Amino acid sequence: KVLCAAGVVAGLLAFFWKDPFNPESLSGARVLLTGASAGIGEQMAYHYARFGAEIVLTARREGVLQKVVEKCLTLGAKNVFYIPADMSSPSEPEKVVQFAVQKLGGLDYLVLNHIGMTRFQMWAGDVEYTRWLMQVNFFSYVALATAALPTLEKNKGSLVVVSSLTGKIPTPFTTSYSATKFALDGFFSSLRHELIMQKRNVSVTLCILGLIDTDTALENTRGKVHLTASPAPEAALAIIRGGARRVQEVFYPWWLQHVCCLWVLSPGDRDQVLQSYYNYSSP
Ligand code: NDP
Repeated sequence: KVLCAAGVVAGLLAFFWKDPFNPESLSGARVLLTGASAGIGEQMAYHYARFGAEIVLTARREGVLQKVVEKCLTLGAKNVFYIPADMSSPSEPEKVVQFAVQKLGGLDYLVLNHIGMTRFQMWAGDVEYTRWLMQVNFFSYVALATAALPTLEKNKGSLVVVSSLTGKIPTPFTTSYSATKFALDGFFSSLRHELIMQKRNVSVTLCILGLIDTDTALENTRGKVHLTASPAPEAALAIIRGGARRVQEVFYPWWLQHVCCLWVLSPGDRDQVLQSYYNYSSP
């Protein structure tokens, strides 16, 4: 409890303290952004464009990417390119990084955000789906980061990894998705240690998001949870600020940090409390 109270005080101090985020630092920054055709990724593309970044966008749907590119240009992006790619294919990550480096002449930010189709339902035994989702949500992140590390290191760049509360606290209806997000925390938090130990100047920012009002998330959770979704443009901005400030973890909404703290400190009734947010009928 003492630790939690200290955490709340620290959170409030951080909230009211002068924010060191400098939007000008993103003018001309070279960004490769995945999952950029919809949802939070699309909103990140528009923020980066307003800040005057040079961007490479990727996702599977070419027509939708073209529309996002057009809007980015009207918002002030210095340079915007796109490359359609399906991250379930193991050869795509390296191709996408090569394309971005060739178009932008290097990278300052790699923002890993895409996810494969998510089923919000109880485990029904589909092991093949879990394997596929691991490829899209986890192995492709590892491959993209590995291919981009040399250029990020050269430019003292940043790796930004979008995760979820369910990558810190296991929640119902998300078995495979939760596993992919826990895997991201394990891999990228370990990698962060190693980069620091080797004095390689690449920051790693892990972003822990609560429910956000993207079309897919609202559709998946409709009628199944008693939770209010937060706005995608705000979530997108929180991720970008965290990456630019080179912080280790971003929590959005901010109070999720205290939810994680309470989760660790009160093992007693926590499962029952968590389950009360879900709409389900027991047999
Ligand atoms: P969306 O479903 O809205 O967007 C997903 C993006 O990934 C789209 O651009 C989609 O484009 C792309 N994508 C889907 N499949 C593939 C694939 N096989 N290969 C390459 N790209 C693909 O997701 P959100 O915006 O809701 O989520 C963004 C991030 O935020 C994710 O990492 C998610 O885990 C995290 N998050 C979201 C929450 C929420 O409530 N929304 C809560 C917690 C975390 P296309 O179809 O064109 O390929």
